[in-house]
Amino acid sequence: MLGRRCLSNSGLRVSRVWKASLWRAAKKRAGLGGVTMTDQEILVCKHCNSHNVVKRGFARSKISGLQTQQWRCNDCGKYMNAKEKSPVTSLTRIPLKKKKDLLEDFKYQEQPIPKTDWKAFTKAQQQEKESLFDITKELLSNIEIKYPAGKKGRKFADVKDMTFCLVAKTYTKLSSRRLDSDLREAQANEYISKVPHFTTLLNFLEKPELTALLQELVKISSLPVKGIESQYAIDASGFSTSQFGRWFDHKWGKESIRRTWVKGHIMCGTFTNIVTSVELTKGNCGDSPYLEPLVKKTCTNFNVREISADKGYSSRKNFEIISNAGAHPFIPFKSNALARQKGSMIWSKCYKYFYDQPQNYLQHYHKRSNVETCFSMIKQKFGKDLMTKNFNSQCNEILLKIFCHNLCCLIQAYYENSIETYYSTEAEKLQIQAF
Ligand SMILES: [Zn+2]
Repeated sequence: MLGRRCLSNSGLRVSRVWKASLWRAAKKRAGLGGVTMTDQEILVCKHCNSHNVVKRGFARSKISGLQTQQWRCNDCGKYMNAKEKSPVTSLTRIPLKKKKDLLEDFKYQEQPIPKTDWKAFTKAQQQEKESLFDITKELLSNIEIKYPAGKKGRKFADVKDMTFCLVAKTYTKLSSRRLDSDLREAQANEYISKVPHFTTLLNFLEKPELTALLQELVKISSLPVKGIESQYAIDASGFSTSQFGRWFDHKWGKESIRRTWVKGHIMCGTFTNIVTSVELTKGNCGDSPYLEPLVKKTCTNFNVREISADKGYSSRKNFEIISNAGAHPFIPFKSNALARQKGSMIWSKCYKYFYDQPQNYLQHYHKRSNVETCFSMIKQKFGKDLMTKNFNSQCNEILLKIFCHNLCCLIQAYYENSIETYYSTEAEKLQIQAF
């Protein structure tokens, strides 16, 4: 074994052992032989024996939290480290061990269980289905549908009727065939004008235009809680499908099969659990890039003061986006994160806040648990599985679930927190093209 080879100043290839002996010889010449090196004692370059050596910053260890003085030779341009180590003083580098100790100080503050107004709760639950249908009808009546002039052939399906039927289907969790009697009842109660055939309903669910309409409905349905929400949380979760993806696994040398899923990225209010904006992607998409559209959509309609998200969203870009939207980010830092600004002032400010007052920071951050509650509410009430096979319909299915969840939250807030804003006064008439 020859070991690593390097070039000496004379152009000869010398082994490491030889280089070390040269270094020892140089030390001897400088009168330093056998003495442990300190910062002051490096006066001779170990590569070229030059005396033109200057200090050039520190080499810092992330793990031990110690730093060593670095020296540079002005003649050959090579760097050397001093042997003496000292602890890192600045906050820019907190050793991993110390970071863990700092964060261990956090104690979860037991929150008093809020008193349930059982009377209001019972009323909200008993009225839920009726109120949900009423609100849906009211919301849909605010939409103006433009039909293209001079269209020949088959008529367009009634968008309002179809949307209502799909909301009823999602709420009751019935299959499209078994839904028929419920729809006939809805027709008798004048919610819809005509009961559609079940295949028409399923075909309608596939339409990409429906996605835009449902996105809009989710947004409008969240508006009435504007006054009582100020803290928001972001997260993503998958809804499993009935399809299986196959891929060849090089690690195990065989083909793997796994159920595919669709990911819903949501931003929700932490008080009422209402969803303010949604983004839908394939299951293998990352979470972090979708923070921007979620925050932008919510901030146009709501007064957002705090946004909390998990470590998956911890990046300088995301801190900047939240800060520029006028809110305070509460995102924890990864263990290898550094305080360096790199163009983001808010990042280093929050970093300092995070390690100086972990109790305070994490108490705000733990409002994020509400977004998990939100997903749990949606999945328990309207099912975690998707029945359709087309990606468009799967997205629409998730949006319908979220829309129904929003209405349920709204009804509960109406009875428990007496919200008194109505859609007809809040929202402008929405104009869409028939599809
Ligand atoms: Zn040198």
